[in-house]
Amino acid sequence: MAIKIKLLKHPELTWYEKLYLPQIVGGLMITLRHLIHFKPITIQYPEEVKELPPRYRGLHILPADDDGEIRCVACKLCEVACPTQAISIVAEPADDYGIERRPKVYNIDFMRCVFCGFCVEACPCDALRMGMKYELSSYNRAGLVHTKEVFFDPNVRSHAPRDNANFLYEMGKGEILDKPEEVENVKKLTGTYTSSGS
Ligand code: SF4
Ligand code: SF4
Repeated sequence: MAIKIKLLKHPELTWYEKLYLPQIVGGLMITLRHLIHFKPITIQYPEEVKELPPRYRGLHILPADDDGEIRCVACKLCEVACPTQAISIVAEPADDYGIERRPKVYNIDFMRCVFCGFCVEACPCDALRMGMKYELSSYNRAGLVHTKEVFFDPNVRSHAPRDNANFLYEMGKGEILDKPEEVENVKKLTGTYTSSGS
């Protein structure tokens, strides 16, 4: 295929433009206008707090389920998705409704985290979200490793299902099934879910 070449001509300056003085005066006028109509854009932090956009990616939070418990099922998908290996999870068995495991340890190392949000995207059951807090300073490195006890927020509730969200989404024909009785019906239908011990 032939390569198309487009020749661009260097613009010729008029004698007026070659003086450069009008441009300098124009620039100074803009500076003067900013001086006269001066509006401070700095914020007197921490007395004043900046309003953040709704999709701001701050420190993580673990939302609660309807019973006020941690929703996480320790599937470790967030741990795998994290590009900086900032998340470490140790699972333990759980026999609560709809879950087999829960996190015994769930740590995020904020010395490594780049706030990309991949972990939140990877979570199949809305058990991890990016919060709005950004105050992260610490006097030592250990203080930057946050445990689940630090970022669990019982005031943030989620009603998404905790077992195989995609499957339940499909079974609900576009509606996420988020009521325990609906989920139980799907389990009976498919036979793929069995309660522990049965
Ligand atoms: S926000 Fe990104 S870097 Fe931070 S823990 Fe999640 S996946 Fe890892
Ligand atoms: S992906 Fe969600 S449910 Fe799985 S371990 Fe991470 S936070 Fe918990």
